[in-house]
This record gives sequence, structure tokens and C-alpha cells, in this order.
Amino acid sequence: MLCELAGLNKEKKEVADIEKKIRTEVINRISKGLMQLAGDDGSGLIELASNDVVAPAVNEPSNTSSNGSYMAPWIETESCTSCDECTKLNNKIFAYNNNKKAYILNAFGGPYEDLVKAAEKCTARVIHPGLPQDLSGKDIEKWIKRGEKYN
Ligand code: SF4
Repeated sequence: MLCELAGLNKEKKEVADIEKKIRTEVINRISKGLMQLAGDDGSGLIELASNDVVAPAVNEPSNTSSNGSYMAPWIETESCTSCDECTKLNNKIFAYNNNKKAYILNAFGGPYEDLVKAAEKCTARVIHPGLPQDLSGKDIEKWIKRGEKYN
């Protein structure tokens, strides 16, 4: 009985963790989209107000199929200390916003292992590599294991 309750509590915590991750990812994406729309002088927002909104394209890999366990990587952007580790490692995955805080530019801009390596190097411990969509990569199980503690 107690074991069952413990299992339920664990499941509730996992659901709460997933909800938190999704909320953070949505906020990051909305922030990124607004910054892109605003442009350097904010003219993009004025233009947006006078036009129909078109949803930005989501960067998805075209040559892989979903494995059902995919979890998007995310960054606690506001806690980034701008140490450059992630952007130096792969500037197709990681980029800085206008406040020089890192965000995920393109989750599929490089191999999953780059997400894990960045999480390991991140001085602020704010990178969460998620889980890969493509499980065919070399040593993918090893990288998933290494990335586990950062999710
Ligand atoms: S490694 Fe971490 S602290 Fe450094 S720039 Fe990237 S997200 Fe920010």
C-alpha cells in the first residue's frame, strides 16, 4: 500500500516536472518570437499590430521519425550567466537574445550529444538537454544516460 502511494507520488512529481518544463519552453519560444518581431528598433511590433499574425515555423528534423519519448531541450534563459560555453560549443543550437542570455535557437542544429556536452559545461547549470528524437545516433544511449541528471 505504501509502495503504491509512493509510486503515485513519484508519478505526480514527474507530471509536475513535465508541466514545468513545458511552461518554460513555451515562455522561451514566445520570448524568442517577440524579440525577433521587435527587431532592433521595435518597428516589428508596430508592423505586427497592423498585420495578420503568421505562426513562426518550428524547427523540426525532416529525416527522422518521432520515437514517442522525444523531449525538447530548454534553457532557464533568465538564469544564464553569459559564459559563452554553449554558444562556443554549437552556435547553430544555442544563441544569445538581446539581453545576452542564451536560448535554444534550433534544437536540431546539431547532434544530441552537443546538448548534453553543453549541459555539462554550463556554469550556471541551466541547460536541460531533453531527450533525442532520433535514436539512431552513435552512442545515443550513452548520451541519454549522461544527460539524465540535467533534465
Ligand atoms: S553555458 Fe549556460 S551560463 Fe553559459 S551561456 Fe550557455 S546557458 Fe548561459
